[in-house]
Amino acid sequence: MSARRIRPPEPLVQALRASRRVALVTHINPDGDGLGSEAALGLALRALGKQVVVANSDPTPAQYSFLGLDAFAGPAEGCDLVVALDCPVLERLGAAGAAAFTAAPATAVIDHHVPKVPFGTAAWIEDGSAATGEMIEALLPELGAALTAPMATALYAALVNDTGCFRHSNADAFAFACAVRLLEAGADSRDVNRRLLDEKPLRQVRLQARALGGMRSLAGGRGALVSVSAADLAAFGATWEDTDGLAEALRSIEGVEVGAMLREEGPLAAKLSLRSKYGFDANVFAQAWGGGGHAKAAGATIKAPFAEAIEAVAQALERGLLA
Ligand code: 5GP
Ligand code: MN
Repeated sequence: MSARRIRPPEPLVQALRASRRVALVTHINPDGDGLGSEAALGLALRALGKQVVVANSDPTPAQYSFLGLDAFAGPAEGCDLVVALDCPVLERLGAAGAAAFTAAPATAVIDHHVPKVPFGTAAWIEDGSAATGEMIEALLPELGAALTAPMATALYAALVNDTGCFRHSNADAFAFACAVRLLEAGADSRDVNRRLLDEKPLRQVRLQARALGGMRSLAGGRGALVSVSAADLAAFGATWEDTDGLAEALRSIEGVEVGAMLREEGPLAAKLSLRSKYGFDANVFAQAWGGGGHAKAAGATIKAPFAEAIEAVAQALERGLLA
């Protein structure tokens, strides 16, 4: 029941085996799943004698420096294969990542989101997988790569990130079974848990306290919304990573079905993060702004002035929850 249930398609395995110089890319605002998957796959491909570069559009947040992705820094030019990880739409690779992907002679996609617009030549999508990292764990033996302790730690970080440390509804028997194999391979779970969950910068706590202080309750307490302006970020010396966890905090409130966090990213760009429980489909809700994700965790970028974006989301939540 909890045995490995997923298998990469043969064309993807062949493309990886045949490659000599591979570039790995993940989505903008990269998280532990995309970055952990890159680290593990990068180490595995290197062990197989291939050159590997990580060519993400965004830098690696400090929290994930332990994954050692700096060792894969380099240009994507000259790669014979570009692999997109944990990314359901080409645009979410960001400008640099999407350019590298589009220019590559061969491309592959490994992801656990429902694809909105399929892209890439060899695509492997498992929307039932808890994390892209779970897929990489299944891919390694097919490539003939041994799972080393650093790879296992990186994949454990991927699983912890996307399952909320095995608390979300995607933490099924397969995710737990995968975690057992990773631990047996030497994953340093305590270090991952500390870095991802138990330790945060003081500025982040202060920023989030301020944001939560301004929380709006919607639809009689069934929705909750917070916003973080560019000025708020500047006031605390904070960056986008410091808003991580805010939408989850809202969802944890009794009676709240959906928590929404809006972050000002520019004069005409507001990043929406949604976390839901019970039956509220965050993925469908985010699609109103061209976004997506999963039923219980989704996001979008709203191209409007910040105050307008906040009002648009507040009204849509009222409508959606009271419908
Ligand atoms: P987060 O709120 O942590 O940024 O993202 C939660 C989930 O929603 C992730 O699965 C992420 O891939 C997805 N997501 C976030 N923003 C976007 C977006 O702008 N477009 C799409 N398609 N998915 C998004
Ligand atoms: Mn993921």
